[in-house]
Amino acid sequence: MAASIIDGKLVANLIKERVKEDIQNWMSKGNRAPKLQVVLVGDNPASYSYVKSKTTDCIEVGIDSETLQLPDTISDRELREIIEGFNKDDSIDGILVQLPIPDHIPPQAIIESIDHRKDVDGFHPMNVGRMQVGQPCFRPCTPAGIMELFNHYSIPTKGKHVVVVGASQIVGTPTAMLLSREKDGGKSTVTLCHRYTKDLTKHTINADILVVAVGSPGLITGQMVKEDVVIIDVGINRVADHENERGYKIVGDVDYKSVSEKASWITPVPGGVGPMTRAMLMKNTLLAAKKSLYP
Ligand code: NAD
Repeated sequence: MAASIIDGKLVANLIKERVKEDIQNWMSKGNRAPKLQVVLVGDNPASYSYVKSKTTDCIEVGIDSETLQLPDTISDRELREIIEGFNKDDSIDGILVQLPIPDHIPPQAIIESIDHRKDVDGFHPMNVGRMQVGQPCFRPCTPAGIMELFNHYSIPTKGKHVVVVGASQIVGTPTAMLLSREKDGGKSTVTLCHRYTKDLTKHTINADILVVAVGSPGLITGQMVKEDVVIIDVGINRVADHENERGYKIVGDVDYKSVSEKASWITPVPGGVGPMTRAMLMKNTLLAAKKSLYP
């Protein structure tokens, strides 16, 4: 039987609707609109399109947003000085530096230069550490969005064996952490795989829930999963498609056709995890404006 679709677009729209109402309430009490400052370095077309979508979401929910576009020749120090200016600017609630940034700039230094109280991406070590110890913090948007999907569709995670493929700091590792937490988390038993994992199939075939965040189109095939698995495909890959007027199409890390024949639930790409990431960014920006996490 074909898998049921986990419709991230639908859930994201519900979340954005709630954020919009919250913002209207917040503003009706005399507060100004939340403001998100985006920093875009260089001219990576994918980054440009992500920023455009995030800006559209901001308009939809009533968040003011501004995008500072910088040349890829900017130095590490210059970029940090700009961010420090945003840190001090009381009219800015959230700061987002769109990744990846050019190779000559160490991303971790840039992430750490953002005031953790404005780190709406949830990448600053203060937020990462507080999440680890179960303290209020900005949760990274993609893992938080994945947890919302389980919640919305009442897909049980407690006691399930979750296999996460891909162990990046922004997706795989925090997703594994949130799912494995006993308190305020997924209560799952988690296996975290990465490029050095030997015999990937040995792990994926045992997954009740498989989260894939690698950046490798079609990495996971139907033969690598068991019947009724729940599939969360985080990958966003551009592959050539001459029938498409843009010359490419977006696919995930999962071979949708073969895997969806065995899965019970699956996120499509596009329209699965991507919209959830953006919706959680809206939620985090409102939390930043309200100073809910760091009063
Ligand atoms: P990354 O490059 O930082 O990390 C990739 C991870 O995959 C690493 O841990 C690496 O060891 C692992 N890996 C690589 N090849 C592997 C293999 N053959 N087998 C097992 N593991 C392997 O990537 P990232 O930033 O985590 O992004 C992963 C994918 O998710 C990309 O396609 C990215 O575009 C997408 N993404 C989507 C969203 C969203 O909102 N949907 C958000 C962030 C990233």
